[in-house]
Amino acid sequence: MPTPHDPSLAVGQPTRECVVLDAQATLPTRYGTFTAYVFRVADGDAEHVALVMGDVANKQSVLTRLHSECLTGDVLGSYRCDCGEQLDLALRYIAAEGCGVLLYLRGHEGRGIGLTNKIRAYALQEQGRDTVEANLDLGLPDDSREYDSAAGILRVLKVTSVRLMSNNPKKFDSLANHGIPVCERVGLAIPMREENERYIRTKQSKFGHYFDENE
Ligand SMILES: [Zn+2]
Repeated sequence: MPTPHDPSLAVGQPTRECVVLDAQATLPTRYGTFTAYVFRVADGDAEHVALVMGDVANKQSVLTRLHSECLTGDVLGSYRCDCGEQLDLALRYIAAEGCGVLLYLRGHEGRGIGLTNKIRAYALQEQGRDTVEANLDLGLPDDSREYDSAAGILRVLKVTSVRLMSNNPKKFDSLANHGIPVCERVGLAIPMREENERYIRTKQSKFGHYFDENE
């Protein structure tokens, strides 16, 4: 069953949030049928996508993922990171529950440094630097992602609180600081591989990430 459009979520409707809803339509996928909402950040040109399944308005503990765009992982199947597998698992979890939200956050490529610099950082990692050192070697921040737009989108969707599918403590703190309570963490168990082990271990040691061992 397609998710019915919420008539109160009108395209172009003024909002007090930092995001504007620009378009919405039904999106059938291999996981199930979602409503896709495209939001524009009011003071920039980033277009974020909210994939919504079921009725999430005025609901608590909505199964939610804030997914940072990663072309190499999400589209090309790269094993240098675990993004593509986390995206796949998050959409499966939402489909299994029949209800939830996945925010696909554009402009977050390479923790905010963009595609070209991410590939430059990969080249430095081939010379022995880790994912954080490589960003810093390029004169770039180790993580410049912000989640205020994500919180704004969740508020426009009238989500009251979330169960967050994430290993990243910064996302929990940031959502809470922007007024979206996180009631629970839902782990995404991704297999550790030779190609991504150093990357995952670095995120654990330098950003305090959780890691959910695959059963
Ligand atoms: Zn990635």
